[in-house]
Amino acid sequence: MKSSVYVDNNATTAVAPEVTEAILPYFTEHWGNPSSMHNFGGSVKRSIDAAREKVAALIGAEHPNEIIFTSCGSESDNMAIRGAVDAIGGHPHLITTRVEHAAVLGPCHYLEDKGFRLSTLEVDEKGNLDLEKLREKSMSGKKTVASVMWANNETGVIFPIPEIGTIVKEGGGIFHTDAVQIAGKLPISVRNIPVDLLSISGHKLHAPKGIGALYARRGTKITPHIMGGHQERGRRAGTENVPYIVGLGKACELAMERMEKDAQHERNLRDRLEAGVLATCKGARINGDLESRLPNTTNISFEYVEGEAIILMLDDVGICASTGSACASGSLEPSHVLRAMDVPRSMLHGSIRFSLSRYNTEEDIDDVLEKLPVIIKRLRELSPFAND
Ligand code: PLP
Repeated sequence: MKSSVYVDNNATTAVAPEVTEAILPYFTEHWGNPSSMHNFGGSVKRSIDAAREKVAALIGAEHPNEIIFTSCGSESDNMAIRGAVDAIGGHPHLITTRVEHAAVLGPCHYLEDKGFRLSTLEVDEKGNLDLEKLREKSMSGKKTVASVMWANNETGVIFPIPEIGTIVKEGGGIFHTDAVQIAGKLPISVRNIPVDLLSISGHKLHAPKGIGALYARRGTKITPHIMGGHQERGRRAGTENVPYIVGLGKACELAMERMEKDAQHERNLRDRLEAGVLATCKGARINGDLESRLPNTTNISFEYVEGEAIILMLDDVGICASTGSACASGSLEPSHVLRAMDVPRSMLHGSIRFSLSRYNTEEDIDDVLEKLPVIIKRLRELSPFAND
């Protein structure tokens, strides 16, 4: 079998060689405890501080101390939502959207079960929000905690976070955004945008799995969910994962250096892929707002075929793609994001997400374009519903 063509980068990315190189000495030489008083530990603490500055720079945070290192994007999301709710006290009104990742919907539904009021905003067929509805909910008179993602992991659709943050703040609420899929792909800056809390995840931007960060604007109160030592200024106890923190810092630095070039490269490949698929596969359509999308992501529905069958047949010929969120795959339920967008029934089960990275090549795309139409044609011939 040909070596894999990996077009599933919203699920996870390859660790950049520069990142691996930066990490290794923290296993072999610099393995001190950053909380130690001696210089062997102190030098490691300085490496953490340097990484914190790089993460802060990627998202335009004013101060590195606004960055809290976590274990993953899911932890950052949980920490933001539950930490803000606990810190506010009482029963704030929660606002989110139907298309969030499970790492946001999970804590929101948990709190709803505990008696909190939860408003879940709908999206239209392009995956966009009705900002007037958000305004209405944000002005409900109660203190609110709103969590709205910056870019969708399944469709790549980008929400207008500056406007959304402004609306939430006008209503006096706390605003969290899950920036896991946009960080490192497009420029974002919290400096001039009213965001209180923002999540990122290392393994989506060429750092390893098992490291993430939460931005908490100065003055934003969050109750820690891991209590113990004074690490992360008392906001998350536990001896730091030094090698991966250094790796995340390096990945953020690389992303900043290469962002424009990488984004253009991914956009060119994505456009070539979409044009080729639409020209060769009957009954294909692209889901999501084409004007406001991540450059690396396309979500394509194929009428009257099963997405899981497409994925398995692509896998057989060495192509790794997905039907949507890696967390939801394994269940045969159609994607909650596409259902929220009212994707027609005949298209709902046959959706594939292709997500690219700086390491993809034109040859990768041509390989997909050679094999995918044959697979779709074969599956259509087997489908009892297809009439072509
Ligand atoms: N939020 C979004 C939008 C994601 O796509 C993901 C992962 O797919 C997460 C959160 C969770 O991140 P992690 O895998 O680091 O826990």
